[in-house]
Parts: sequence; C-alpha cells; structure tokens
Amino acid sequence: MLETDGIRCIKGVGEKAEKNYHKLGIYQIGDLLHYYPRSYDIYQPIQPVEQMAEGRVMVVEVSLAAQPKVAYAGKLKILNCQMRDSSGTLLVVWYNMPYLLRSLKMGQRYILRGKIIRRGSRLQMQQPKILKREEYVNLLYKLQPIYPLTAGITNQAIVKAVRQALQETDLSGDFIPLEIRKECDLILHKKAIQDIHFPENEKAFYRARKRLVFEEFFLFALALQQMKQNRQKMQSSYVLQPGDKVEQLLESLPFTLTEGQKEAWMDIRHDLQSGYVMNRLVQGDVGSGKTIVAILALLTVAEQGHQGAIMAPTEVLAKQHYETFCELLEPLGIRVGCLTGAMTAREKKQVQQSLMDHEIDIVVGTHALIQEKVHYADLALVVTDEQHRFGVKQREGFFTKGQEPHMLVMSATPIPRTLAIILYGDLDISVIHGLPQGRLPIQNCVVGTDFRPQSYRFMEKEVGKGHQVYVICPMVEESENMEAENVVDYAASLRAALSPSTRIEILHGRMRSEEKNEIMERFGRGEIDVLVSTTVIEVGINVPNATVMMVENAERFGLAQLHQLRGRVGRGSAQSYCIFMMGNPSKETKERLQVLEESNDGFYVSEKDLSLRGPGDLFGIRQSGALDFKLADIYQDADILKQANEMAAKFTKPQVLELCKKYKGLREKLENYGGDIFL
Ligand code: ADP
Ligand code: MG
Repeated sequence: MLETDGIRCIKGVGEKAEKNYHKLGIYQIGDLLHYYPRSYDIYQPIQPVEQMAEGRVMVVEVSLAAQPKVAYAGKLKILNCQMRDSSGTLLVVWYNMPYLLRSLKMGQRYILRGKIIRRGSRLQMQQPKILKREEYVNLLYKLQPIYPLTAGITNQAIVKAVRQALQETDLSGDFIPLEIRKECDLILHKKAIQDIHFPENEKAFYRARKRLVFEEFFLFALALQQMKQNRQKMQSSYVLQPGDKVEQLLESLPFTLTEGQKEAWMDIRHDLQSGYVMNRLVQGDVGSGKTIVAILALLTVAEQGHQGAIMAPTEVLAKQHYETFCELLEPLGIRVGCLTGAMTAREKKQVQQSLMDHEIDIVVGTHALIQEKVHYADLALVVTDEQHRFGVKQREGFFTKGQEPHMLVMSATPIPRTLAIILYGDLDISVIHGLPQGRLPIQNCVVGTDFRPQSYRFMEKEVGKGHQVYVICPMVEESENMEAENVVDYAASLRAALSPSTRIEILHGRMRSEEKNEIMERFGRGEIDVLVSTTVIEVGINVPNATVMMVENAERFGLAQLHQLRGRVGRGSAQSYCIFMMGNPSKETKERLQVLEESNDGFYVSEKDLSLRGPGDLFGIRQSGALDFKLADIYQDADILKQANEMAAKFTKPQVLELCKKYKGLREKLENYGGDIFL
C-alpha cells in the first residue's frame, strides 16, 4: 500500500464509506495516517466503588448484590443492577440490553468501565462496558485514540483502518537527517506516526507528538526560508504616491488616526513608493482599526489608476467590508465591486467581466477572488484580512493574476514578537498598538460554576436593556456531532433558565454554511438576543450591540483564543462584559485566566500565554488561530518552533532540492506552504 493510494484500499471501505472519509478530508492513505486523534481514552486501574464521583469514568470490580431488575420507560428497557465491592455498593444501569439479564450471574465478579452520572440525588454508573480480565489487563494504561468523527463513521472503524494502513504502508523514509534527529532528540518518522495513533503510554505519546510537531514546523520553516530568498528585492513596476483623494478621505473621517494607525500607514506608504514589491503584515488587536489602513492603501492604488482587491475569510465579513468601502469610497468616485462564493453564477460572471474591463477599481470578496476564472486588468495591490485563515499558497494565488501586485496582510491575532519573526519570516511587520480613544474597556470576570445563576440574571438584565449576548458552549472531546448536541442541550437548559421572551438561537460547526450565515445575519440585525455557539463565531461578525460574552469551560481554551473570543464584544459605545466560567477551578487555571482580567491588550495576553504555557496537552487544545498547523501550537510548542527554524536555516537551496529528490512527496508538502519556492 502506498501513501498516495486511495482510501478504498482499506478493507471494508466501499463507495459509501469512501464518501464519508472524504468529508473528513481523508482521500488517500497518507491523509488517514496523518488524521490524528483529537484526544485519548486511558484505561485506569480498578478503583473502589466508594471513590465514585460525578462525571468520572472509572473502572470497578464488582459482583451482583441483588437480582437485576428490569424497568420500562416507553420503549426503553432499563436494567438496574445493585453491585458491590468491599468498599460499598453501586447502582449500574444499562439501556436496551435485555440479554444481560440472563448472562449476569450472582457470585461472579465483573470488571466494569463506565461513566458516573447523577440521577436525582444518587450517583450511578451508566451503560458500562463489561471487560474480560485479559482484555482489561491488555488495555491498562494504554491510550486509546479518539478521532474526530462525522456521521456514518465510527471511532472503531477509523481505528481499524489506521491499523491496517500502518501495517501495510512503508513509512521507513525519513526526510529529517540523522544529525538533526540526534541533536534535537527526535524519534523516527515511522515510529512517531505509529505512536501518535496508538501510544503505549503517555511518554510515547509525548515523544511522537514532539517529532510530528517538529516536522510541521521544520517543513514550514524550510518553505518559508526558500521563499524569502526568492522574494528578496523583487522589483515592482507599481511605484505609487498617495494623492488628493487620500487626503480628502482622511479629512472626511469622523475621527483622526491613532498613533498606531499612523505608523502602519507610514510603513505602507513607504513600501508603495519604494519600487519593490510590498510584503507587509499589519498586526493589531481586534478593534484597533485595521480596515481604514487597508482602505488608505487601496485608495492610493485606485487613485493612480490601478486595481486593488481585499479578501476576507467569510461571506459575512466580506459583505460588511463591502458596505464600509462603498460608503467611504464611492463619494470619491472610486468604483467598488463585490465577489463572493454565495453569488449566483451570473452575478459572478458580471463582476469578473467588469474586473477584466477595469470597470471596477477595488473589489471586496472571499476566496472567490482567487478562483481560476478571475482575471484582473491591472491588479496592483492585494489585501488579505484575518490572514490566519489563508494558507501561504492561497496568498500566492494572486501573484499569477497581475504582474506581482503588492501584498498587505492584516491579522488580528497578536503574536509575541519572537514568534512573529519566525512565523512571518517572509513579511515585514507593522504593529498597531492600542485602540482608538473613547472606547470603554471590557470588564472581565473569572468565576466558578456556582456563579452561573447570577450570570444568567446578568444576561437577562443586559437583554432587557436591548443588548445582545454570546454564550460559548462547553467543549466536548468526542466528536463534532456531540458538539452539536451539546449546543442544542445547552440552549434548551438556557431557555428554561431565562425568561421565556428571550430569543435564543444556536450556532455550531455541523450546520450548513447558509444556515450559519442566516443566524449570524439575524443576530447582526438584532433579531436574536442570546446566541449559543461553539467557537465557530471566533472570526466573524461585528455586532456592536452585543455587550456580553460568556465562555463556559474557559480553562479548556488557550489565552490567545479567549482573547479572540472576547474581541466579539466591546465594539460599541455601551459597556461590555466578559464572563469566563471555570468548570474546573484549579490554582493554575485561575492564575492563567487572571491574565485576562489584568489586561485587554492582546499583545500582553499573548506574551503571557507564551510564558505560562503548560506541557503538551493530551486533549490537544491548539487553535491559537495563527496559521494552519495540524498538531503544533505556536504557544505550547514555541521552543520546538525556534529549534526547527534554526535547523531549517542550515539548508541551502541545492540541499533542499536534493532532499526533495530523495523523498517522494516532500516537494509537494513544501509547495503547500510555499507555492513557487522552486522557481
Ligand atoms: P479591526 O482592526 O478589528 O479590523 P476595524 O477596522 O473594524 O477594526 O475598526 C473598528 C471600529 O473602529 C470601526 O467602526 C472603525 O470605524 C472605528 N475606528 C477605526 N479607527 C478609528 C479611530 N482612529 N478613532 C475612532 N474610531 C476608529
Ligand atoms: Mg477587521
């Protein structure tokens, strides 16, 4: 079996299963091998019954204390068993497993593994698995992978498929040279792939993870460094001076630029006049006012008779930008167009034609802007907003459209300087520090779950004032399906807790994108009071009327991500609030979350995130939002990032080419990051 073989090579994968695998982004055997577990289940030692606690998954060794009883709840057949060990008794409940009634025998001991839940005032073990002794001994301490799933694929199916792929694929080639492996203490690629799926113990997991994280960073750094060499001093035919219209716009604004905005704008002006292609990243916290800076740059280009494009990561954001742009630029005689994936084929065609005929000066859009049919008459500047949603390769898509347009990237993910230099090694960086004056700083509080009733009252009060609320739901590990269920359940309990007139809606990753857009738009129009959501709202809408953000299980998120979530409120003139609810209030958690109470400055938070980062987390909470790494997290793995970057710097271009010749597939991986690196 080859890594490039289709997923149908796996036993039992037919046409239908194949489609489901495609939904997970798994097309080839290689994709499957790199489809990493999202967490692991660990079989712990047997515990005495008396140690049971709500929510805990535990293993007990018990025998029947009385004959099992069957009860019915509608069609549901419930088997209740009193069981005991020497420390106490335990109620065990199975649903719809009538054959157990016959097979469970008095006097026999059973090893059970299941979750302890609360029913009324009593604890009980629900639907446990009965384990044979040998089976259990075999599983003890081992980490069982839990994969992200989609409807129609079970965890067990993926486990089986991965096992077969591991057995039948040759993974012996290792593109990281021996010296580097030695110096950085890395295990072999093959071993790492095996162990990330089926680690013998935690130590094996950490070693596998380290190797694979290194690998991701190393490839990324290698691609970036090659690209940087290509890019150095690329001449530009677009030498552009800001003119009268830029002055007019600045004068017409109801505010003056902040110092941070002025500095970023100066950097950009300088680049545009320099005679070289601009490659600049503007970093600034949410709300720091990056849009106007982009508008100034685009206006400069349009004023000189060329075209500019700005690409947003979502339809909603693109629409919002489009409105802002029209409002500010049309009075100056600039022709603004819009191109998004949601438009009809006819509408798209029209806009594409206008772009070719240069009837549009500035186009605002989504990914649709880089799809193949789009040709520009004279594209001089491309701005991408919220860069982390675009891979480097997608950015490169623009370069073939005109003659090397200037590139400006806007990012709201504040990244510590030391890391930014590596991650954006091919870009010059401007930072917009601070927010425009006159905004009320967000008030933050970090609380335990006992504060939940009070927070609900507080939400009601804000809704009563006509404001809106976001609730970020607790996360679940098992699957995206469960995440959806979870949001639904949570919304139901919230409906019960809040006054019936409160309009509560939900948003989660399983919804179709039209559904999501609709909910977001309705929220934007103020037709929804409380939006219960997973983190899908992280990058999205600007709803100045939303004043409360409540995050359940805040301890499960990285500080940087929490800061991003917080950025959804505090966008209007009213006082905004952020409630971070700790499901598990340990001392470390409190200390970490208090950083958010201390400061609303994203750069401060991200520096702290870096210094407080814990060891690798088994549940792999990643999502710093910056760039698209599968396993690696720039905060948690900052040391590995630095090391991988240093190692990659040792390679000259001929050496990289040599490496690519030797290892099949490596070139493609690098090009995924780097586009034209081998020109
Ligand atoms: P972001 O950096 O998150 O993209 P935006 O560009 O959307 O922020 O700006 C947020 C809001 O602040 C907008 O309503 C914008 O008009 C306003 N704004 C931008 N710059 C200033 C300024 N210098 N003074 C006051 N308000 C500003
Ligand atoms: Mg923005």
